[in-house]
Amino acid sequence: TPASLVADTTTTAVCGYCSTGCGLRLHVLDGEAVGLTPETNYPVNLGMACPKGWEALRVLESDDRARVPKVRRADGQMDSVSWDDALNLFTDRFKAIQAEHGNDSVAFLSTGQIPSEEMAFLGALAKFGMNIKHGDGNTRQCMATAVAAYKESFGFDAPPFTYDDFEQSDCLVFIGANPCIGHPILWERVLRNKNNPEIIVIDPRRTETAMSATEHLQLSPKSDLALLYSITHCLIEGGFVDQTFVEAHTDGFEALRSHVSRFDAETVAASSGISAEQIRRVAAKIGKGDAVSLWWTMGVNQSYEGTRTAQAIINIALITGNIGRPGTGANSITGQCNAMGSRLWSNTTNLFGHHKFENADDRSKVAEALQISVDTIPTEGSWSYDQIMEGIRAGEIKGLWIIATNPAHSWSNQEDARELLDQLDFLVVQDMYDSTETAHHADLILPAAAWGEKEGTFINSERRYGLLKKVRKAPGEALADFQIFRAIAHYWGVGEMFKQWTHPEAVFRIMQRASAGSPCDITGITGYEQIDRSGGVQWPWSAADAENCGDVDPPVQRRLFSDGEFCHPNGKARLIVDEITPPPEAPDAEYPTMLLTGRGTVSQWHTQTRTSKSPVLRKLYPNHSYIEIHPDDATTIGVANGDRVRVTSRRGSILVDAMITPTIRTGQAFMPMHYATTNQLTLSHFDPHSRQPSYKNSAVRIEKA
Ligand code: SF4
Repeated sequence: TPASLVADTTTTAVCGYCSTGCGLRLHVLDGEAVGLTPETNYPVNLGMACPKGWEALRVLESDDRARVPKVRRADGQMDSVSWDDALNLFTDRFKAIQAEHGNDSVAFLSTGQIPSEEMAFLGALAKFGMNIKHGDGNTRQCMATAVAAYKESFGFDAPPFTYDDFEQSDCLVFIGANPCIGHPILWERVLRNKNNPEIIVIDPRRTETAMSATEHLQLSPKSDLALLYSITHCLIEGGFVDQTFVEAHTDGFEALRSHVSRFDAETVAASSGISAEQIRRVAAKIGKGDAVSLWWTMGVNQSYEGTRTAQAIINIALITGNIGRPGTGANSITGQCNAMGSRLWSNTTNLFGHHKFENADDRSKVAEALQISVDTIPTEGSWSYDQIMEGIRAGEIKGLWIIATNPAHSWSNQEDARELLDQLDFLVVQDMYDSTETAHHADLILPAAAWGEKEGTFINSERRYGLLKKVRKAPGEALADFQIFRAIAHYWGVGEMFKQWTHPEAVFRIMQRASAGSPCDITGITGYEQIDRSGGVQWPWSAADAENCGDVDPPVQRRLFSDGEFCHPNGKARLIVDEITPPPEAPDAEYPTMLLTGRGTVSQWHTQTRTSKSPVLRKLYPNHSYIEIHPDDATTIGVANGDRVRVTSRRGSILVDAMITPTIRTGQAFMPMHYATTNQLTLSHFDPHSRQPSYKNSAVRIEKA
């Protein structure tokens, strides 16, 4: 290290990629971060970081950072403009669209990547200040299913676990989850488990996690709900039900027993590709475990029946009494660094802090907390992401404001999504880069500061508020999203409504007021300084909790439901079952292969918007897109490893390289979601309860190119 780059101070902030929420120690010289190391004292990562975290600073220096506002000219080129011109254009165009087509003709799409305070500001500004009713987050693509499942089963969107549970379980079950790749630091926590645990993986692919498991149930794609019902049936038949817990703390057991009795192991073995013997053996391992934890991610959430599948997992935890104790739980691991902040504070489907738009008392409470007129709060929730896209198709949505997300890459049936963006009268993209696939469709680009260039809080998968810090200046004229929202409020003429919203911690105070008395109450947190000192604070932490604790800092690890009290009015959790639904698209003679998509590497993130900017991360992953094919299928098609193949679905046709691997089964193929063309193939179909896209079952044809 050159002497000129020796840091003069260090400070700890949470990472800005995934929902693990690792603490990173930033080394700062003259107010600018010059390096980082994983924080050894942070209770999440305990001194570890994945390659994305190590490279977090480097991607901020890219040439394609958005530095000034830009407006599209009539010839399609972008012109740099002043912030004053940009904000006047933003206001004039959106107001004109609302005047001509009604307030609901403008919508927004946001993100799980900005701090909670910015989520709150955007949601309040759009809904209460600008009369925009329809707005949703890209968290609809990853977490909506878990939200819907928890709300119906527990009475609140309440992931019950703490990361310590990875180390305390004697049996861990991963369903549609590959933490070796998706959440590598959480997998490191599993490796610290001293109980010699059973590790059961339910996944159609032999993933890196499956290779490390004691049992891998390599089931047929989307036979997971039937398999989980069969395991539940085996648990009941095997006498593994915790009757005392079920009677005291759940509703619906008899209906559950009756429903799952149809899913005997032999019947489900035939449809899932798992032997009846293995189904019974796995059920017995779960039944005999003292501390069983069940973990799921996108393999469950991104499904046309994801909510019911997540609830089948929750049912298993509930009937075996595996909840509220160390090492237990029905645990959804979130994706983005602040997906949880989006769930709580984005003010989209739920009113500010998981209140209900439809409930007059909730509207009054939020109006009081925000010190605004209750009449500014809509009386119904928003359209979901897919409904907003369909609103564009129908000509009902004419103006769209996209913040820190990239639908032209990530939305299913990509060509269709791009055509919809081009149908808009006015598209604003607010992002840290002006080179994203979505920015290419924008009429106006607002340059935003990034992680490390602003302050606020992220909430990780275990409900922990962690602090984000400003350790470098944003490039050019880029502003923190917080400052952009403040400026828009002023130009829109509602600055007075947001006069208290002066800085992120002031908004955190407003969020605290709105949370009072709810399951996510954070009124006991004394402020950012306590979050920083404590290694983050898990919600809930109410004023009463703080008082009972003697006003010392909250315990480092806390889990929910240790008293068996759930959030439904009668205090009980609900056991929910449903009929199995057929897949919306099945392989046939024309499209004989089932395409699965997902995370392909530990070193890339989502649409590669940031991670592709790091030479180190690029070296850790092929720059060209590929498709995983079983050796037998490769022989049938006549391709060898590395050959170019054409992959065609009913939506599109793309060229990629073949990767021949026995980790995928015959009749199936896998493509990482990180490459720009993958979603040209994927199906637009949605879980009816969560409206989450079903990315993992598209029928395709693979041919030698
Ligand atoms: Fe950041 Fe997630 Fe990697 Fe931790 S695991 S360093 S939070 S990307």
